[in-house]
Amino acid sequence: MRIANVDNRAVVLVSDDRGVDVEAASGGRFGPGLAGIYARWEEFKAWASTLADTAADVSFDRSWLGSPSPTPTQVFAIGLNYSDHAKESGFEQPENLPPVFTKFPTCITGPDTTVLIPEGGNVDWEVELVAIIGKQAHNVTAANAWDHVAGLTIGQDISERVSQLRGPAPQFGLGKSFPGFGPTGPWLVTPDELDNPDDLELGCSLDGEEVQKGRTSELIFSIPALIEGLSATVTLLPGDIIFTGTPAGVGLGRNPQRFIQPGQTLVSRIEGIGEITQTFTTTGN
Ligand code: ZN
Repeated sequence: MRIANVDNRAVVLVSDDRGVDVEAASGGRFGPGLAGIYARWEEFKAWASTLADTAADVSFDRSWLGSPSPTPTQVFAIGLNYSDHAKESGFEQPENLPPVFTKFPTCITGPDTTVLIPEGGNVDWEVELVAIIGKQAHNVTAANAWDHVAGLTIGQDISERVSQLRGPAPQFGLGKSFPGFGPTGPWLVTPDELDNPDDLELGCSLDGEEVQKGRTSELIFSIPALIEGLSATVTLLPGDIIFTGTPAGVGLGRNPQRFIQPGQTLVSRIEGIGEITQTFTTTGN
């Protein structure tokens, strides 16, 4: 099943631009937005599985899409979770849970956006598989972790490296939370839609040039391992977002380093999910 946030209304998709409006089809039992649905995910999924494609009553334009989880209580992001990326960042491969930080929820947007480059900033790309939590999780084992995931989507952990790395200690949370720095989408894909949700090709291109390419099977901590590790400390809530880490190829790790220029377009894609597009500007500074 694929579910989109169409102009703040949950829509179960039958194609990339048509679907069933959840509130209308459920007679008000679920919806209208996606945020409240995650709190009753199992009940919702059982109801949605009975929907017929012929019930589709909404056609939409991609520009209407918002984040599949527009108001998460918590947003987790994971650093150094692919070995080639840990190497390009100058770190050893982590043995324990990799670095965990947050992208503050106000930076979360839908899939296709224009992003303002902060004045004097070095803005970098990080394509990432994103998991959205569908059931409260505390002390969950990896073996049971997928039961707590509503679905997957694409995320860009857009990062401003000057403020991220300015001393005395790194400021990951701030450097990665400028407005629009957490685009997500284009929709939520439930794990059962994918042949192997633990092995998806992901990558991104800047003005058509491929700058990152990897497979999620290369994650040092897989989604189940991350949920086990995170939930050993924090209670994960329905609708929470986990950015799972980025493969090699970020601009910071290049020689010479390279950052996004005004006017450039970044397209990020994940096999079985789709793609999201960001255009960058300095107009508005
Ligand atoms: Zn990242």
